[in-house]
Amino acid sequence: MDFETARDRLIDRLRERGVVERDATTAALRAVPRHEFVPSEGRETAYRDRPLPIGGGQTISAPHMVGMMTDLLAPDPGERVLEIGTGCGYHAAVTAEIVGDDNLFSVEYDPKLAADARDRLGDLGYDVSIRVGDGHEGWVERAPFDAAYLTCAPPEIPDPLVEQLRPGGTLVGPVGRSRQRLVRLRRRADGGVERETHGDVRFVPMRRDD
Ligand code: SAH
Repeated sequence: MDFETARDRLIDRLRERGVVERDATTAALRAVPRHEFVPSEGRETAYRDRPLPIGGGQTISAPHMVGMMTDLLAPDPGERVLEIGTGCGYHAAVTAEIVGDDNLFSVEYDPKLAADARDRLGDLGYDVSIRVGDGHEGWVERAPFDAAYLTCAPPEIPDPLVEQLRPGGTLVGPVGRSRQRLVRLRRRADGGVERETHGDVRFVPMRRDD
C-alpha cells in the first residue's frame, strides 16, 4: 500500500471512531506526510496509530493523540500558536496546516531535534519558527498567543505559558508525574483560568535545567 492510501485509511478510521471530529483537523492530518518525520527504518509503520521513536529517547505522539489535541485546541486560520516540544516537527506541521505560515512558534529543549525539525519542516515547505530552550519559559518575545499546547508533561502547567496567552486563549497539554491527564485551560478576560480534564495520557516528561 502506498503512503497516501495508508494515511487516508488511518484518518478515515479516526473519523469513524469519533476520535477526530473537526474538518480542519481532518484535512490537516490528511495533508501532512507523517512518514517524512520518522527515521527511515520506521517509515513502514508511520501510518499505524501508535507513537514512534524519533531519537534521543523521544517519541512522536500517535496520530489519534495529535488529532484529539488539535480538535481540543481548535485553532483558527491566522491564529498564533505556541508549541512546547517540537520533537520531529510532525505535530507542528499539522497545526501549521491550519494556522498557516509564520503563525506557529515552537520551543524544543534538544538542540539536535530542533535543528533536524527545522530542516525537515523547511524542506516540506512549512514556515514555522523554532527556538532551542526550556519550554517552561514559553517564548515571551513572540507572545501573546491565541493558543498553546505541550507535547511533554510538566507536573503543573508553568505560569509563563498561561501568562503568554491572550485573554480568551486556550492551552492544551498533558499534566502530571506518574499519572498524567490531558488538560485544557482557557484564560479568562479577568485573568482567571478555567480548566477541564480529558482523560489519562502518557507523554515524555518535560525536562528542565537543574
Ligand atoms: N510534537 C512532537 C512530539 C515530541 S516528544 C512531534 O510531533 O514529534 C516531546 C518533545 O518535548 C521532545 O522532543 C522533548 O525533547 C521535548 N521537551 C522535553 N522537555 C522540554 C522542555 N522543557 N522544553 C521544550 N521541549 C521539551
